[in-house]
Amino acid sequence: MATETKLKYLEDIFSSVGRDVLLEILISCDGSVEQTESLLSEQFPVDTKRKAKSAAVSGHQKKSKYQRSISQLIDSNSLPTKVESTSKKMRLFTKEEIEASVPYVTFKRDFLPAEVANSLLEELLSKQDIFTPNTFFIAGNKCVANHKTKVFTASDDDERLQYDVELSGGKLDMGSFGDSMRIVQCLVEDEVEALSQSREKHDFQPKTKWTGDIVVANLFCEKSSNLDWHSDRLTKIGPLPVIASISVGATRDFRIRKIHPFNKNPNPIISIPLPHNTLLVMHAGFQEEYKHSVAPSSGPIEGHPISGQKRFSLTYRQYHPGLVDCAPTCSKCGSAMLLRRMYKKVENRGKYYWSCMGSYANKECKGFYWANFRNLDTPNSKVYTTEESECSEWIADDDTAKAAYLMTRS
Ligand SMILES: [Zn+2]
Repeated sequence: MATETKLKYLEDIFSSVGRDVLLEILISCDGSVEQTESLLSEQFPVDTKRKAKSAAVSGHQKKSKYQRSISQLIDSNSLPTKVESTSKKMRLFTKEEIEASVPYVTFKRDFLPAEVANSLLEELLSKQDIFTPNTFFIAGNKCVANHKTKVFTASDDDERLQYDVELSGGKLDMGSFGDSMRIVQCLVEDEVEALSQSREKHDFQPKTKWTGDIVVANLFCEKSSNLDWHSDRLTKIGPLPVIASISVGATRDFRIRKIHPFNKNPNPIISIPLPHNTLLVMHAGFQEEYKHSVAPSSGPIEGHPISGQKRFSLTYRQYHPGLVDCAPTCSKCGSAMLLRRMYKKVENRGKYYWSCMGSYANKECKGFYWANFRNLDTPNSKVYTTEESECSEWIADDDTAKAAYLMTRS
């Protein structure tokens, strides 16, 4: 279900609650409509007539297992105290204002030589039939994304792909880079290398030079195609990943938002239009501290002479060599496990952990380990632990709430 659809459903039930507040809580609940509904019903009056109508329309029924206490789900600091909207929106266009507002990104228009950008777009259009919509689960409901995705690899016999259960739930059928994708890979790698000179490398990041030999490509066919709020999964790319994204085709708004509130204020939603041939590098910490999305567009969008309303985004990324073949399997059910980072409660914010993929894929399993990155440089090392004291964590420099919390503890 698209974020827009979820919001419409929630607006129908909680007519007194502002749209921005609904969005805020929906994001805090990782997009779960049922959790959002459950939380809100404890604070705000439910419009029961509308609720009955909405339930009939959408087939939604509140399940008691999602009625957990507010504090379990989100940091109580992030709960709105007023019904009216407090969330701001900002639309940023220039490199200067974007990088000043979000220090975790580099923005570069007209990154590729014009003919390379056009041939990349043509190459992707020739491959568009192999793109497919992702399916995923939200609160027990199977959902189909309304954008299409394909994962590409630079090497034709990539052994790593058979271990990649993260995106596909099974063996992943990867595509191969075309000529233009290879040329762009070289240019992107040079750019990331140059940018890395002015950024400190964290111990959790690979010691080797950054490579962009895996591409997750998204295709937005129409202006209504969107990508829900999310951050990229860390399981293969590891903690503090660098991801370089190239947009070609129609211009769409890339939205980003910090995941935890500052001084109890909901964070602004920052919209960045990404025209044809724009590079956006998401540096270390971006996936940890922000969520991003591509909003459906209600107004006209700027199309491209070659692709019309179609837009592709190519996200070049590197699998972390220290995590290949090392991810733990669930001791309870044998499923693969996903690497994640805690952020909702300030006490735990920054701690990395492994959670059973079964729970993500709609099976009830609470399989859990803390993540331990102490030996990431040693091949096939153990990257998990049952001891919380041995857990690896990363705290953002600008996380003042966490800094204040740590002060009170010392
Ligand atoms: Zn499990």
